Amino acid sequence: LMQLSIPLNFIGFIYREVRQGLTDIEQMFDLLDVEQEVTDKPGAKPLVIERGTVRFDNVMFAYDPKRPILKGVSFEVPAGKTVAIVGPSGAGKSTLSRLLYRFYDIQGGSISIDGQDIRDVTQESLRAVIGMVPQDTVLFNDTIAYNVRYGRITATEEEVRNAADLAQIGSFIKSLPEGYDAMVGERGLKLSGGEKQRVAIARTILKAPPILILDEATSALDSATEHEIQASLDLVSRDRTTLVIAHRLSTIIGADEIIVLKDGVIAERGRHAALLAENGLYASMWNRQREATEAEERLRKVREED
Ligand code: ATP
Repeated sequence: LMQLSIPLNFIGFIYREVRQGLTDIEQMFDLLDVEQEVTDKPGAKPLVIERGTVRFDNVMFAYDPKRPILKGVSFEVPAGKTVAIVGPSGAGKSTLSRLLYRFYDIQGGSISIDGQDIRDVTQESLRAVIGMVPQDTVLFNDTIAYNVRYGRITATEEEVRNAADLAQIGSFIKSLPEGYDAMVGERGLKLSGGEKQRVAIARTILKAPPILILDEATSALDSATEHEIQASLDLVSRDRTTLVIAHRLSTIIGADEIIVLKDGVIAERGRHAALLAENGLYASMWNRQREATEAEERLRKVREED
């Protein structure tokens, strides 16, 4: 029986490993699901990146032909600058980031990087130059070290640790009983939204892409966490062409340009102070958010006094 139980154990081990692998692959496919919709043009060349200027030119897009989402959107993110997209829920903000990553092809207009239409270059070369910090990061059923290293598989242990420190997740990892070897994901440690986002930031620091897409989480983070995340985001976006999909307006006060998207078109654009002075949609969104934050603060103080 002994002789038999060892191989059975071994088979169990292999089975678990394979299952684990499959779960990762499933997650990968979930992540890349939409990718099947676009393919490289015959003879597509790799993108030649110069300074990383991003242009949306009269972009039209619909997931469903009966319901247009973008009806002619034009803007530029000059190399090294930060442009923030704001607007009501469902306006198409996250869609813009998916289009730049070419998860979908547009139906009109063009999107280009350094003058090259993203449909004319290989997807691989396009995605190599873009770092994406999404709203919700997919973690693999593996160690936290693996999850950070995913940004650049060839990174050394020291580079992984440095990136984690810069993303302000290093001390959290070190506080875990198993440190960098702690398992995360479905059957491991569950990370909070803020922790997952910091893992994504650490990955992006390792990848060091010339172009960055930051898709802010809609879920409310407590203000200390938000502050920390903001500090690490500011650090990664410095001197990189950055497109921020912003839900909290407080995070984009310093953006080089703010674009207010509404009903598929750009309703307003400019810098924070100028938009406030315009007293339009942006100003009303800003006032509403400020009131909500103040109400939360008052509620918190009352609770603390009790
Ligand atoms: P929020 O601030 O709530 O995140 P958003 O401005 O980022 O909103 P998008 O996620 O870009 O909005 O979605 C724009 C519209 O497109 C929404 O009405 C949404 O329902 C629709 N949409 C998004 N993804 C898909 C999809 N895969 N298939 C069909 N419709 C979609």
